[in-house]
Amino acid sequence: MTTAQVGPDRDLVALDQLVAVEEAAFIARLPESARLLAEATTSLAGGVVSNWQMAPPQTVWIDHGLGSRVWDADGHEYVDLHNGFGSMLVGHAHPAVVRAVQERITLGSHFAQPTADVIPVAQALAERFGLPIWRFGNSGTESTMDAIHLMRAVTGRERIIKVEGSYHGHHDAVQWSVYPGVDEMGPVRRPASIRTGPAIPQALAALTVVVPFGDLDALDWALTEHEGEIAGMILEPAMMNIGVIPPPEGYLEGVRDRLHAHGALLAYDEVKTGLTVGPGGMTKRSGITPDIICLAKAMGGGVPCGAIGGTAEVMESITDGTYEQVGTFNGNPLTMAAAKATLTEVLTADAYAHLERLRVRIVEGSEETLVRHGIDGHVSALGAKGCVVFSPDRIRNYRDFLAYDDRWGHAHWLVQHNRGVFLPPWGKCEQWTLSVQHTDDDVDRFLTNLDAFGKMVRQ
Ligand code: PLP
Repeated sequence: MTTAQVGPDRDLVALDQLVAVEEAAFIARLPESARLLAEATTSLAGGVVSNWQMAPPQTVWIDHGLGSRVWDADGHEYVDLHNGFGSMLVGHAHPAVVRAVQERITLGSHFAQPTADVIPVAQALAERFGLPIWRFGNSGTESTMDAIHLMRAVTGRERIIKVEGSYHGHHDAVQWSVYPGVDEMGPVRRPASIRTGPAIPQALAALTVVVPFGDLDALDWALTEHEGEIAGMILEPAMMNIGVIPPPEGYLEGVRDRLHAHGALLAYDEVKTGLTVGPGGMTKRSGITPDIICLAKAMGGGVPCGAIGGTAEVMESITDGTYEQVGTFNGNPLTMAAAKATLTEVLTADAYAHLERLRVRIVEGSEETLVRHGIDGHVSALGAKGCVVFSPDRIRNYRDFLAYDDRWGHAHWLVQHNRGVFLPPWGKCEQWTLSVQHTDDDVDRFLTNLDAFGKMVRQ
């Protein structure tokens, strides 16, 4: 006797079939990407320049971008919702950024001495995020590394707290329990500190205490268990490497107050959220200002960038040399020219109004599409960022994220890609980023593809 597949099992069978068909179509569309990858493999590790680019079924090579669109090496055009993992909030080749960089490069592009643009950039960030003193670096990894060094230098303590399932870059202090496996991750409310592979010394495990997102009791336990030893906590105020997970009501305030009560500091990792969820990131949206903010990605308008902001008291440790915040390329003139244009000319109040209109269109359209196809999902979105979550339940933390099937995100990513919408690879983990140059037509292409996806899953 055969039993017809029903409910989620029926969907998973359909998804397996869909993934097989769409992966074959994907590879068939991209012969030039395949050729470049093969050639690159002889001189680049894995044929790429960052391991995240090794996304299945095959790395996509890009030729160029303009406005809301990118073109791959095979000549296909896409609505770009990948946007360089959210760095291109300004869209591609924005005229103001192009002009600023072109003007700057003719005047010399690097001196390792400050140029005048560093001042308006720092002032604009202070104004937006409400922390007075800033320094610059070159990546999100540098920003969170500086934040942790700074918390240790200010408090004279060594341990830090991070959230299970959060990614803060690839330095030793934060490469713990980023995507831990089910069999190793430990109790829900007292997670184990699991290193991201053998490159991270096991000897450092005790220095990074892991807690679940959104759980103030668990934070209390961690702080009490390590009383007087915690320098601070690095926290994405809305989690953005496992979809989009907003903080529960009162959480950010509770975290800040608990840390301060134990003599510890709070650093927000706003590398992804900063500028994309609103003009002053989650800091301004929530009204809860941390001691330190880490920025990168979107603040540079597409040029490598990083920044940390802090209270006058915290940043005094840099001024007096307790913490040596240094770097040859810090405040690089090209970066500062692009950041100044981004902050003062492009990301205006009108630009945020436009992003908000697009957010409503993509969220409402996606939710309506899911309902129409009877797919048990929802949309989680904040400002320019958002994702379809193919689960009826709200995702509150890493363990919830693990509980629903990866195939949904991958199949959706493939269907969008093969039909001209470039979402970030690693479908289930990531989210779209709208840019100020996206239009209703761009959103509608995404919705048309989501509708096609619904039909394919439910046919
Ligand atoms: N923090 C968060 C929240 C991130 O998502 C990332 C990168 O994706 C980083 C830090 C590290 O930034 P970068 O890749 O520029 O080093």
